[in-house]
Amino acid sequence: MREWEKNIRRVVPYVPGEQTKTDNIIKLNTNENPYPPAPAVRKAAQNADFDALKLYPDPTASELVEAIAGLHGVNANQIFAGVGSDDVLSMIFLTFFNSDKPILFPDITYSFYPVWADVYKIPYETQPVDEDFRIKAEDYYKPNGGVIITNPNAPTSVYEPVSFIEDIVKHNEDSIVVVDEAYVDFAPESAIGLLDKYDNVIIVRTFSKSKSMAGIRIGYAIASEELIKCMNDVKYSINSYTLNRPSIELGTAAIKSDDYYKETTAKVVATRERTAKRLRELGFVMPESGSNFLFAKHETKSGQEIFDALKGAGIYVRHWNAPRISDYLRITIGTDEQMDELISFLQNYLQR
Ligand code: PMP
Repeated sequence: MREWEKNIRRVVPYVPGEQTKTDNIIKLNTNENPYPPAPAVRKAAQNADFDALKLYPDPTASELVEAIAGLHGVNANQIFAGVGSDDVLSMIFLTFFNSDKPILFPDITYSFYPVWADVYKIPYETQPVDEDFRIKAEDYYKPNGGVIITNPNAPTSVYEPVSFIEDIVKHNEDSIVVVDEAYVDFAPESAIGLLDKYDNVIIVRTFSKSKSMAGIRIGYAIASEELIKCMNDVKYSINSYTLNRPSIELGTAAIKSDDYYKETTAKVVATRERTAKRLRELGFVMPESGSNFLFAKHETKSGQEIFDALKGAGIYVRHWNAPRISDYLRITIGTDEQMDELISFLQNYLQR
C-alpha cells in the first residue's frame, strides 16, 4: 500500500432512498410531501432576482433566519440555517460531539448518525429500543459525550411526548441533547418550549417534509445564542455561503405561509390514519405513527417479498436489510389516491 493510501479518510457512506428518473411511479420511499410548496413560494420563484445570481448570497441568510425566528418566537441569534437538516446535523456533530465519551442514540433511528460519527471520529454507543420500538429513557442516564434523539423517531414513526424528552434532558445537564424534529409537524407537540428552561438543548427542523420543499435543501437548528454562535464559528471555518439566493427567497416565502402548511399537514395526517386502518385490515402490524410515514410489517409475508412486489408494480417504499427491522417497510404517506393504489395492489397481491 502506498503511503498516501493509508492517509485516506475512508468512510462507509449513508445511502439515501432511491430518486427515480421515471414519472410513472408512486414514490413513497423518501418521506417527501405529496403536496406542492405554498403558492407564495411559487410567486417568489417567479419573482426571483436573476441578475443578483452574479453576487454571493448573504452569508448570514438573515432574511430567512429572521422569518424562522419570528415563526418560533425566538431571537434571530438562536437560529442556525443550513443546507437541509443533514447539513445542520453534520455541523452539530462536528461542533459539539468532541468528547472521549461516546455519544448515545437509539439502535433504530436515522441511519445517518453513525455515518457522521464515523467520519468525524466520534465514539458512539447505540441504545436498543424495546420490542415496540420505544426508546428507553433510562438508557440515556449514563455519562456520555452527547445525546441525539429523533422525535418522532425514524424509521419507526414513534412519537414520544415532550415530558419524555424533558426527562432525558434533565438527566443530561452536562451534555448537549439534540432533538431531531424532522417530522414533528405531523405529531402533537414540539420540544421547542424546553429551550426556555434548558441551555443544553438543540432542536433541529427541516423544510423537506411538512414544508414540501425537499428539493430546496433548507434545515435549521434552534438553541441558545451561545450554542448557535459555536455552530456559526465552525460553519464560517468551512464554507461561509451555504444557502444560495433562491433558497433564502423561497424559504422566507414558505415561512410566511404557515396557514397553507397547516392545511396540507392536516391532510397528510388524515391520509395516514386512513391508510394505517386499511393496512391493519390487510394483516399489517405497525406502531402508532406521529410522522408522515408508516412503519409496517405483514403477519406472514417478509419485508423483502412485499418490497419487491411493490417495486415491480411501480410503487416505491423503503426497506432496510438491517437487524430487527428487515420485515418492516417504511411507507411515506402520499395523496389519498396514491394510498388507494397502494392498498388495492396489496389487496390483490396478498390474495394470490
Ligand atoms: N432527520 C431525519 C430523522 C430524517 O429522516 C431526515 C430525512 N432523510 C433528515 C433529518 C434530513 O432531512 P433534510 O436534510 O432533507 O432536511
